[in-house]
Amino acid sequence: MSALEELPIRPELRGKSPYGAPQLDVPVRLNTNENPYPPSAALIADLAASVSAAAAELNRYPDREALALRGKLAAYLSRTGGVQLSAEQVWAANGSNEVLQQILQAFGGPGRVALGFEPTYSMHSLISQGTSTTYVVAPREAESGFRIDPAVAVEAVAEHDPDVVFLCSPNNPTGTALEADVVEEVYAATAGVVVVDEAYAEFSHAPSLLRLLPGRPRLIVSRTMSKAFAFAGGRLGYLAADPAVVDALRLVRLPYHLSVMSQEAARAALRHADDTLASVDLVKAQRDRIVRELRARGLQVVDSDANFVLFGRFEEQADVWQALLDRGVLVRDVGLAGWLRVTAGTEEETSAFLRALDDAAPQQAAGDRAAAQRAEEAGKQ
Ligand SMILES: *Cc1c(COP(=O)(O)O)cnc(C)c1O
Repeated sequence: MSALEELPIRPELRGKSPYGAPQLDVPVRLNTNENPYPPSAALIADLAASVSAAAAELNRYPDREALALRGKLAAYLSRTGGVQLSAEQVWAANGSNEVLQQILQAFGGPGRVALGFEPTYSMHSLISQGTSTTYVVAPREAESGFRIDPAVAVEAVAEHDPDVVFLCSPNNPTGTALEADVVEEVYAATAGVVVVDEAYAEFSHAPSLLRLLPGRPRLIVSRTMSKAFAFAGGRLGYLAADPAVVDALRLVRLPYHLSVMSQEAARAALRHADDTLASVDLVKAQRDRIVRELRARGLQVVDSDANFVLFGRFEEQADVWQALLDRGVLVRDVGLAGWLRVTAGTEEETSAFLRALDDAAPQQAAGDRAAAQRAEEAGKQ
């Protein structure tokens, strides 16, 4: 028996593995959907000066409500999300994973049910487990490009009567954007809270679902600064919802959960938002290039509205994953048979990925180029 198994740990945690995207020191890291561009020198200088000034009062607890930061996040969403929001409608925590955990602490828990549409973001089920919330699933089908069928969704809600419904748009790991009618129909069908995880909203052609918030007090849209904002190391996630939802989360959050440094750093990052978000177009161009190049190789590729691409289908995706890693390129095996996920990086990183794939899986990567070409020509006719 291992030392862990000998501890009086909660029974439902026995035999479980922690969330584990490998953190490996390889030249090309395309496995956790980060923005490949580092922060600008101006942002770094601003952040350092702000944190330094705030450090003069580090003997005091931070603003427990993080109101100044929430006001800036509300202004950003109002500017880009198609809806006017105030600080009272926004909540922030250390990454959107903490936001999701607080949602489950307030609305899930023992005896309660969360519903997700798989394949989707693995943390939705892991955080459910961690809060002793029963996690149930309804399917997304590969044949439909992993879209959620509104009828299937409404049926799943009727069957499971969930307290929390997780929707994800664009969905990780498939890149699929959600139609507004799925949210509207699920919301109307459930008495629970509906969480739309918009971690990749900035990369999507579809407008943000924030516009559905007015008149829906049980709807929550979660966001993060980890992806488009190039702030994964800063750990700042947030949500927009009715002020009553925020009041519910304030019942379960740890006091002073956002440090002075986190609040100052995030505000500095937001001051440079336009500059940082200019990289989104570069990343989208590489995403579209990956889709084109992989399809030209005869591979199956899911349409993506995010900064990553799901591609396959391989006999053994784990073998292709390892072969890419052997060539210095780390992509993600999300545990979906036959598929791998690659993050759109810089132009150089994308080229390195394509070269490694051609080298690693020449038959599969080349696929049947002729067949792919024939299919494309047939499509044109
Ligand atoms: C990356 C990701 C997050 C972000 O998590 P953080 O804790 O904010 O870094 C949230 N949801 C989805 C679907 C993601 O892919």
